[in-house]
Amino acid sequence: MPPPPIPGHCLTQVLVQTPAHSQMAGALSYWSPTPVQPGTLVRVPLGQRELLGVVWPSESPAAPEVALDPAKLRPITAALDALPPLNHHWRALINFAASYYQRTAGEVALAALPPQLRDMSSVQLARRLKKRAKAAATPARPSTRPTHDATSTPTPDAGPAAASVVLTAEQQQAIDQFHQQPGPFLLFGATGSGKTEVFMHCTAALLAASPEAQALVMVPEINLTPQLEARFKARFCARYGDDAVVSLHSGMTPAQRLNSWLAAHSGAARVVLGTRMAVFASMPHLQLIVVDEEHDPSYKSGEGARYSARDLAIYRARLEGAKVMLGSATPSLESWHHSRPAAEGGRYLRLEMPSRVGRGQLPLVRRVDMNHQPKSCIIAAPLLAAIAQRIARGEQSMVFLNRRGYAPVLQCSDCDWKSECPHCSAYRVFHKIDRTLRCHHCGLSERVPRACPACGNSDIMPLGRGTERLEEHLAELLADVRRPDGQPARIVRIDADTTRLKGTLESQLAQVHTGEVDVLVGTQMIAKGHDFRRITLVAAVNPDNALFSSDFRAPERLFSLLMQAAGRAGRDETVANQSEMWLQTFQPAHPLYEALKQHDYPAFAASQLKERQQAAMPPFSFQALVRAEARSQEAAQGFLNLASQAAASESDMAALLAQLTLYPAVPMSMARIANVERAQMLVESPSRTALQRFLSAWQAVLHHTRADPRCKGVIRWAIDVDPLNI
Ligand code: ADP
Ligand code: ZN
Ligand code: ZN
Repeated sequence: MPPPPIPGHCLTQVLVQTPAHSQMAGALSYWSPTPVQPGTLVRVPLGQRELLGVVWPSESPAAPEVALDPAKLRPITAALDALPPLNHHWRALINFAASYYQRTAGEVALAALPPQLRDMSSVQLARRLKKRAKAAATPARPSTRPTHDATSTPTPDAGPAAASVVLTAEQQQAIDQFHQQPGPFLLFGATGSGKTEVFMHCTAALLAASPEAQALVMVPEINLTPQLEARFKARFCARYGDDAVVSLHSGMTPAQRLNSWLAAHSGAARVVLGTRMAVFASMPHLQLIVVDEEHDPSYKSGEGARYSARDLAIYRARLEGAKVMLGSATPSLESWHHSRPAAEGGRYLRLEMPSRVGRGQLPLVRRVDMNHQPKSCIIAAPLLAAIAQRIARGEQSMVFLNRRGYAPVLQCSDCDWKSECPHCSAYRVFHKIDRTLRCHHCGLSERVPRACPACGNSDIMPLGRGTERLEEHLAELLADVRRPDGQPARIVRIDADTTRLKGTLESQLAQVHTGEVDVLVGTQMIAKGHDFRRITLVAAVNPDNALFSSDFRAPERLFSLLMQAAGRAGRDETVANQSEMWLQTFQPAHPLYEALKQHDYPAFAASQLKERQQAAMPPFSFQALVRAEARSQEAAQGFLNLASQAAASESDMAALLAQLTLYPAVPMSMARIANVERAQMLVESPSRTALQRFLSAWQAVLHHTRADPRCKGVIRWAIDVDPLNI
């Protein structure tokens, strides 16, 4: 170790957010006048800037390997030591995530901290903490306010009576198993089987057993499920005070996020409810992690370190000795496979709750064979009649279509012109409401031309249909239908376009809940999670596309989406037995729809897993993608292929290469976005370890290849481990 410039100073390793690809993979070294504990936040100089950093123990894998010149090292600016250090569990989680997802520990660690911390001085932070401490000193009284807040909806169990529900036998059994077994658990429960109730019971038991215990409850998209938040708050604030439940998600202001984070870090928050980012919340007394709707793709991050919060939750629980419970009505095939019987190698314990609470039945699934419908038919006559019947009875219907806008393409009836985006390999979508053509990938938006830009023909036509057109069409078809009060039917559309303004989603959902709306039209946004009580009909207008997708996960996603959607119908047992799910399909006999009709996820999963096993695909193999962006396809693919050849010529990689397959580079399915060409290369191995070792070794090769003059057009590249979209 070099001698300190000032006697008594100590050498300190600090992680900072190193610029991507700077290859400053490890911690940086600084002098500190006093020893600083690992996990302490510090402010350090880097070049001309001053940055937030975390003191990182030098024995960790992220430690620097560069030779140190003591004269060049600078002192840390300040230690934010009013805040207790991040503990070794947290640091181990960061180290693991960084190494598994092939990023730097600095990038992962700093991204895991609330953004507002980055700009705070030690004085500001100390002041903030003092304010918190003062507020906490005023004794936290159990909440006495009514538990319905403005956004919560009148769910029967959101009230104080919640704590006294009588558990169903299935719920009781699941909870007993949870207490007796170590887990990890996969709670496989039908929609409406009372999974949330089980999560709350398990949480309540652990919190009651230990005065410090904390629970982390993760949900896919919190703003789509305000009810869950309301239910947890109602249950736990009543007992432990208003501050006991905090949220952590990207919809919060930086100040709110910092507050929640500090509450979790200090141990004051007993329950943290959050989206995928919450998996990194600092929780010193973590004893339980719940991952609700564990199959949801939004647990996988699409930028930066492309981590899976679900997979990290499993790792973190083991690390901290906490219990972990995943829940879903349609588990991911990975989790389902992990929960096979232990005798067959399963590592998770499957807890089953096949029945809906009460006497509620799952909806009857009806398929409309579109081969027998008129060619241009959008809503088949029998489906229309069923919707009209619902309206007349005062019940609600939900019709969904996975395409927003009016029509996905505008086409000239004379020449070949179509509304292609000049910058992307995609069509611009026609939005009739403001007469624009909008690219959903790069955001380019223009007025619809009066005439064909290619030939001047004034007859340009919408081709295909989106939710906007569906809404218009339904309004025409249902114009003469009356509600029980004699009023015309009310239709509302919910999709990314109608909910752009903050608060509109909430108010639209409230309209559905209060019964002002008869027909709800929307994208998959409406199919997930909501506890609509009066919906007795759910219809998928055009679900077939996913059956023919090149992505091997498309059927899994479709099945889960349709099961979730079906789960929206008949949640109130007084109407459950007349509830129906309609599918308009050209493939009525498809096995996926057969399984759906039987509500038979296990059969569907078994057939999918068999196919995956035969094709050696996940979960029977492990994958990573390297994606490259460049000015041209040739450059993007050329870079990947060069890096692949370079790996093959490295002698120390030969043994690893024998255990994996590197496929040739191909254009991504969306090959061009905003004039940037995108290509990818798939790496596959039956061994996770071999894949991991290869990727770590290949990183340096990729960096090196990028610097090759032949790769000048390359803009960036990134590794995606366990990719979801291929
Ligand atoms: P899931 O999360 O499995 O879809 P929920 O936990 O939301 O199911 O439960 C569905 C509905 O049943 C909710 O309205 C909930 O309040 C109610 N519920 C859950 N468990 C019980 C129970 N043991 N007794 C009565 N109602 C229950
Ligand atoms: Zn034309
Ligand atoms: Zn575009």
